[in-house]
Formats: sequence, C-alpha cells, structure tokens
Amino acid sequence: RAKELGRNRFATFHPEFQDKSSHQSAVIQALRHSLRNGGFRLKLQPKFDIRSGQSGPRMIGAEALLRWNAPGLGETPPDVFIPIAESTGLVRELDAHVTKMLVGLLAGWNSDGGPCPTVAVNISAQSFQDTRFAERLLELLAQNAVPPTALSIEITETTLMKRSSSASDNIRSLRAAGITIAIDDFGTGYSSLSYLQRLPLAELKIDRSFIARIGGRDRDGEVIVTAILLMAQALGLRTVAEGVETDAQFEWLRSEGCDMVQGYFLSPPLEPQEFIRLYREGRARPDPAAPTAEPGA
Ligand code: C2E
Ligand code: MG
Ligand code: MG
Ligand code: MG
Repeated sequence: RAKELGRNRFATFHPEFQDKSSHQSAVIQALRHSLRNGGFRLKLQPKFDIRSGQSGPRMIGAEALLRWNAPGLGETPPDVFIPIAESTGLVRELDAHVTKMLVGLLAGWNSDGGPCPTVAVNISAQSFQDTRFAERLLELLAQNAVPPTALSIEITETTLMKRSSSASDNIRSLRAAGITIAIDDFGTGYSSLSYLQRLPLAELKIDRSFIARIGGRDRDGEVIVTAILLMAQALGLRTVAEGVETDAQFEWLRSEGCDMVQGYFLSPPLEPQEFIRLYREGRARPDPAAPTAEPGA
C-alpha cells in the first residue's frame, strides 16, 4: 500500500480505485463476500436515562452499530457502505444479518438468567417495504426465545416519507408485539410531521447536528432542541439526544427534561461483552480509565 501511494501522487483514500464507481463495485463485491463468510461485528453504544429525580445517568440499553473489516478494503465505516448497500438492494440482506447477530447476543443474555437490556437495531427503509418484515422478525425472536421487549428498532424519516402501507403495517405489527420504534436522526429529513401522530412510535432521537450546536453563541441550537422536546412531550414520545459530547450539553439537556442521552460524553460504542458487564454491574458509566473515543474510529 505504501509503495503504491509513493508511485501515485494523486492518491486518495483508496489509491487502487481510479474512480468512484470502481470503489463502489469493490464495496459491493466485498459486502457479498462478508454476507456469506462473515466479517461483520457489532458494537453497542449505551443509552442512559437522565430523567430528573434520579441520582445520576442510568444505563438502560444500547444501540447496535455495525463494524466491518471489508476484505481487501480494510475497516470501512457504515456511513460509507450503508448508502452503497442501499443503492443495490443488498441492504435488506445486511439488515437481516445484523438482526440475526443481535438476536444471537440477546438470546445468550436471556438464557443465562441475568438482567437483560433493550437493544436497538438500525433498519433501512427498504426492509420496511417488505410486507413480511415484521412477521419474519417476530418469528426469529420466538425461535430464539427472545422477548420482543428486548429489541427496539430505529428508522429514519425516509422510511416514513414513502407513506407506503407496508411500512405502516410493519410498524403497527411490531408495536403490537411490544417492539418499540424510534425515529432516528430526527430533524434531518424532509417528511411531513403527520406520521408522528399517525403511527405508534415510542421514541424520537434528536440528530447530533442539533446537539452539537448547544452552547453556541447565538442560542440557535437551544431554540430548535427546546422546540423538538416540547413537541415530543406533547405527542407522548420519549426523547433521546444523540452525539452528546460535553458536560455542558449534558447538563442543559437534563435541565430541559430530555429523557435519555447517548454519546461519547457518557460512553463510546463498546464491545458487546463489555457492555453487558457494565449494564449488569449497574454502573452509571464505563471505567474512566477506558478510552473515551472508539479505537480506530
Ligand atoms: P446513527 O444511527 O445516527 O448512529 C449514531 C452514530 O453516531 C454512530 O456512528 C456512532 O458511532 C456515532 N456517535 C455516537 N456517539 C457520538 C458522539 O458523541 N459524537 C459523534 N460525533 N458521533 C457519535 P456509526 O456507527 O459510524 O454509524 C453511522 C450511521 O450508520 C448510523 O447513524 C446509522 O444510520 C448507520 N448504521 C450503523 N449501523 C447500522 C446497521 O447495522 N444498519 C443500518 N441500516 N444502518 C446502520
Ligand atoms: Mg441509529
Ligand atoms: Mg441516530
Ligand atoms: Mg444521527
């Protein structure tokens, strides 16, 4: 790789690819390979309940985040490969693969008798177009003796933009079975907000771009987040702030009545065994000696 770089003065991230489309086809090929042979891992980023009246932040669950060491390409982040998987329809297989990995973890934790957290999985819009998505997922949980309340699902506004009946039907079936649904990256989509009343959603995750603006000079960030919190409360939705990185953001969110937070300030994504250990110890946050950012991220 170093030799190649030396030869190619115009090298970018992957010097072996002459253009974007050859990089894309390499990613697609590598995805197919890893879907068959393995190569994906999950990290779990804890979610903390911060409602006032409590002594401190309490770990209540996590979000599963996909990690991929792509054959021939190296460690590749989801922001790179998810859009490519979406453009080819491979994302449905990927969603199914991730869900299986997570249900495997949950099944182990449920069978060993200890307390079990609720873990969220990110599911793409395309999976929700499949009329049998909810049915298959509930079947998978039943086969593994995992209660539906152990799983929650994050979807983006894009999933609801299509206003398709299959997406709504899947959401209703999942909710009826006890699976909570969260709207991810709230505020970044372009959809009408009517779905918030129309569908049985439980949670609204405020996109980290808004959280990053808390504590700015002009107070613009605070204005938007306050408005989102008020709307969510009026609609009976729980609120989660994502990407909380500072003490100032954390304290402000708590004083404004945000229900839950996620972000490097309290914990980076963790190895699953590390997450379950901390969860069961009932500790407020990971060891302060542990690195605060994800290694290699
Ligand atoms: P997301 O669902 O909004 O996930 C949160 C992202 O923010 C994660 O990035 C996480 O590592 C990162 N993050 C967490 N705390 C902080 C923080 O304090 N500061 C900053 N700057 N970032 C933080 P990641 O893991 O790279 O994932 C990116 C996106 O890729 C996710 O955004 C999600 O939309 C998607 N994704 C990840 N895993 C999956 C998956 O299994 N399936 C699908 N369909 N999408 C996935
Ligand atoms: Mg998410
Ligand atoms: Mg998010
Ligand atoms: Mg986000």
